[in-house]
Amino acid sequence: MAAVQLSGIFKRYGDTQVVHGIDLDIDDGEFVVLVGPSGCGKSTLMRMVAGLEEISGGDLMIGGTRANSLAPQQRNISMVFQSYALYPHLSVYENIAFGPRIRKESSASFKPRIEAAAKMLNLGGYLDRLPRALSGGQRQRVAMGRAVVREPSLFLFDEPLSNLDAKLRVQMRTEIKALHQRLRNTVIYVTHDQIEAMTMADRIVVMNAGRIEQIGRPLELYDHPANLFVASFLGSPSMNFAEGVIVNRAQGQGLALKLADGSEIVLESVPATAKVGAKATLGVRPEHIETMAQTPDAAMEVEVVEPTGAETHLYGKIGGDSWCVTTRQRSKVEPGQRVTLRLPAEHIHLFDTESGRRLV
Ligand code: ADP
Repeated sequence: MAAVQLSGIFKRYGDTQVVHGIDLDIDDGEFVVLVGPSGCGKSTLMRMVAGLEEISGGDLMIGGTRANSLAPQQRNISMVFQSYALYPHLSVYENIAFGPRIRKESSASFKPRIEAAAKMLNLGGYLDRLPRALSGGQRQRVAMGRAVVREPSLFLFDEPLSNLDAKLRVQMRTEIKALHQRLRNTVIYVTHDQIEAMTMADRIVVMNAGRIEQIGRPLELYDHPANLFVASFLGSPSMNFAEGVIVNRAQGQGLALKLADGSEIVLESVPATAKVGAKATLGVRPEHIETMAQTPDAAMEVEVVEPTGAETHLYGKIGGDSWCVTTRQRSKVEPGQRVTLRLPAEHIHLFDTESGRRLV
């Protein structure tokens, strides 16, 4: 087991800097997910931790030892990739045994570890099979088995579920999480899929353009995004936004956000940093909006109705922005109808439009 510390880590390819000074402390046994859009530097960061990519600057500590210039095999790390990279001509058993054999371990020493890993990963009945006779999920489990028998102090997963179909992805998500709960090893897991991040992580690191936007527990980030990027990245369908200017309401009735079309959304509770005249962006999640409100805050003309079974998504426009409202009731609303909406004050997020930062 190992704690991992990154201090001021950066990466340059020639003149181009792609990772800009990352500071991150990962506790021993923690499951940390790096998430962000494609190209934000997640894989580069992970590959620097693995030793597959040179670190241009900063310090990497693994288990209390400076690891910047250690060779990959000296870092006691196991990595699972998107492509399972199994040897097609070797059986499941031999694929898992490949690493220990290369390291010249005796069969008596690694056999029990392979059997335990196979049992844990439900591969017990498949040890004699070749990879081509396995399903995608089973192949991914073999790749994990290979990682597990190393008994590494740190597991690195790089988009391991991207090649699987949707149903299997959900199943493997649960399996990887269960595996972590059993082994309690330190995990760094890279994905662009925010649902994977939300469901699997102890802590999520949201990255954008080579920088960390926010670090926190999944629901902390969901409930209190620090900026517009995190607010829009986490959640599906994503948070609704309305841009406007903070104005005084008539007769001293507090403040409102005046939108481009002239309509106003009342701001019942206003953060101390929200000033009259400032450009602000209001955010509210689709599931927090109440429809058919007695005392509405806004109205939306419905353009599309999307029933998913458990819930229904209503899509339309508010102040020129596209919005989605999720209801758990079977909705009788038809496209073209106007619905009145209540935006509960406790679920309203306000951001400074220019900096993108949350107003607190
Ligand atoms: P992610 O994993 O988040 O999709 P990557 O870490 O793969 O992102 O890439 C981050 C950035 O670094 C991208 O802009 C990518 O084009 C760039 N990059 C990655 N590898 C190289 C390389 N070998 N040479 C130059 N640029 C690279």
